[in-house]
Amino acid sequence: MEIVKMLVPESKYPIKCPYEMKPEFIIIHNTANDASAMNEISYMIGNNNKVSFHCAIDDYRIVQGVPFNRNTWNATDGGNGQGNRKGIALEICYSKSGGARFEEAERLAAEYTAYLLKQYGWGIDKVKKHADFYPAKGCPHRTISEGWQRFLDMVNSYLQDKPTNNENIENGSDEPVRKYVNGSTSENVYADTECTIKIGSLNPRETCDCFGTFNNRAMVRYIVTGTNNYKMGFCKWLGGVK
Ligand SMILES: [Zn+2]
Repeated sequence: MEIVKMLVPESKYPIKCPYEMKPEFIIIHNTANDASAMNEISYMIGNNNKVSFHCAIDDYRIVQGVPFNRNTWNATDGGNGQGNRKGIALEICYSKSGGARFEEAERLAAEYTAYLLKQYGWGIDKVKKHADFYPAKGCPHRTISEGWQRFLDMVNSYLQDKPTNNENIENGSDEPVRKYVNGSTSENVYADTECTIKIGSLNPRETCDCFGTFNNRAMVRYIVTGTNNYKMGFCKWLGGVK
């Protein structure tokens, strides 16, 4: 899963993402267009319209244009609308013509949605559609016409870490949460699997929960020293996954 960040410059925050945001759910859109994710994000950042969204997803990659701690004008529900102020907006590309590249974009969007749900500790009930906030637009049009529950089922299959092809699933094969046992040196924890944003660190020999490996990183949930707060992030050292 390739995630590219092409973030809107701060000088454009007043137009594109004026408010700080603590995300509460994910909103799925279709672009109703045939442009790639890179093009959707470049266009969104480049113009001065009060229209914005966090990520565009095509058949190759996820491109993020607005950080998740800023709001976007995605949901057509006004300046104080829940969708515009609380939702992480994901646009699925190529919905105008559909076909194989749309199907692949939708599949990647389902995988990324599950990845975000895990990061935030959310369940499938946190996946909304644009139409939940503004029914008249009927967005995401193709995802709805081909089956909204079908999309949610796809997200669920990634959420449960099961292959979408379920031929090989045996009863009771659900993996329990694993442990991460740190080694003898402090280990950095990052917000992203590319390890560009450090959010904290594990002490030598510290033990915490591990939800598996993603993009060759260990996904951990640990208690911030001296608090009752949990943080989740990624570690480079895979030897700690038990
Ligand atoms: Zn929409």
